[in-house]
Amino acid sequence: MSDLENRTPSHPGRRAVIVGAGIAGMATALRLHRQGWDVVVVERAPSRRSSGYLLNLHGPGFSAAERLGLVPALTPRDIGFFTSILVHADGREKFRLPAAVTEAAVGSRALSLFRGDLESALYDAVAGQVDFHFGTTVQAVAQTPADVVVTLSDGTPLQAELLVGADGVHSRVRELVFGSESDHLVDLGHMVGAFPLETLPEQVPEGFGSTFIGPGRTAAVMNLGPERSSAFFAYRCTDPGGDLALGAAPALTQAFGDLGGGVADALRQLETSSDTAYFDSVGQVVMDHWSQGRVVLLGDAAWCVTVFAGYGAALALDGADRLGTALTEHDHIPTALATWETSLRPEVRKRQALARKGISRFAPPSRAHVWVGEQMLRAIQLPGIRTLVQRAIARANN
Ligand SMILES: Cc1cc2nc3c(=O)[nH]c(=O)nc-3n(C[C@H](O)[C@H](O)[C@H](O)COP(=O)(O)OP(=O)(O)OC[C@H]3O[C@@H](n4cnc5c(N)ncnc54)[C@H](O)[C@@H]3O)c2cc1C
Repeated sequence: MSDLENRTPSHPGRRAVIVGAGIAGMATALRLHRQGWDVVVVERAPSRRSSGYLLNLHGPGFSAAERLGLVPALTPRDIGFFTSILVHADGREKFRLPAAVTEAAVGSRALSLFRGDLESALYDAVAGQVDFHFGTTVQAVAQTPADVVVTLSDGTPLQAELLVGADGVHSRVRELVFGSESDHLVDLGHMVGAFPLETLPEQVPEGFGSTFIGPGRTAAVMNLGPERSSAFFAYRCTDPGGDLALGAAPALTQAFGDLGGGVADALRQLETSSDTAYFDSVGQVVMDHWSQGRVVLLGDAAWCVTVFAGYGAALALDGADRLGTALTEHDHIPTALATWETSLRPEVRKRQALARKGISRFAPPSRAHVWVGEQMLRAIQLPGIRTLVQRAIARANN
């Protein structure tokens, strides 16, 4: 039995409205439901979102999944470690980074999952016990010291003790309660695209990932078998608005169309299935406060650390679990929210700083930076250096 299942319902009859059925929203729904709250989840998408992109949970992210009781459901969906082949622009191999090297660096308490599989595990844990409103958003929020009333896009008013805005980096709850997106979203001048591959990319051997890292950009194509293969692209961009207007397939083809290997194949697949693609500019959400009265933001809506941190899902799980703890310990909601924020802020600040530093790994500023990055990846394979890397990862995870 997980820690969470052992917890006794502490707040029967209290109602929370959660906007967003992503990782943050569903983890919060799970945590609060298990504590005895009556939970309503409002999701703009007409139904549950599917596979998405590949993400890693290790260190505190794995621990949070464990505390939420998710690991048994996630383990069969774990993609595991795989060997990466670093390639030239035309797809020719430069060198390999064996799976065992990554495994030794990251450790065994790690999961590699499609975002949709993590969302499915969360959904399965609350299905039938939490009230989901798909195809719905929030139109207005009004609060008094005693309650918060959320008006949905279909006109339904919902009265609750707590409203959680877990509606992602472009949060509507944030806009309604905390002000305009431009006051909180700091653009990092890069674009990211990631999507599952329905057809296996022939140019990449099965069981391997192929990665090209050049000045200002990274392209990775993973051939891990049916329903496990995907592509990832990150690039520096001076006009993110322009590329967003262009759309995923044309913008990524413009930025990566010259590359060989599996990239051309992945881009061709994107042209016919762009609805499953993630494509957005990279921006961090920076706010002085994550709550106001009975309204709290959680996950990317509050603190988006970006893909360059590789830690947003981990923080969403950890943040949801810690929110549950704070609400158990403090009946007065604003006090619970303030305590929760104090416990989480140092970690978020650290991850945002690491993400800004990490940009140059995904989009090296020059050929010299590419060369230095490659030497570091080659060096990781030397036992002495590997130990140093393991220690650095352990430090970053603590
Ligand atoms: C390519 C990529 C790779 C990543 N890799 C990792 C990794 O390895 N490890 C890691 O820990 N993190 C990783 N991340 C980050 C992680 O995926 C995010 O931080 C995490 O998914 C954020 O979850 P969320 O629930 O806060 O937001 P989201 O996943 O954006 O979910 C928000 C939900 O709210 C819904 N919504 C939006 N607007 C509204 C509205 N107005 N009304 C109602 N519903 C709404 C959306 O449809 C969605 O369901 C990665 C991110 C990307 C893009």
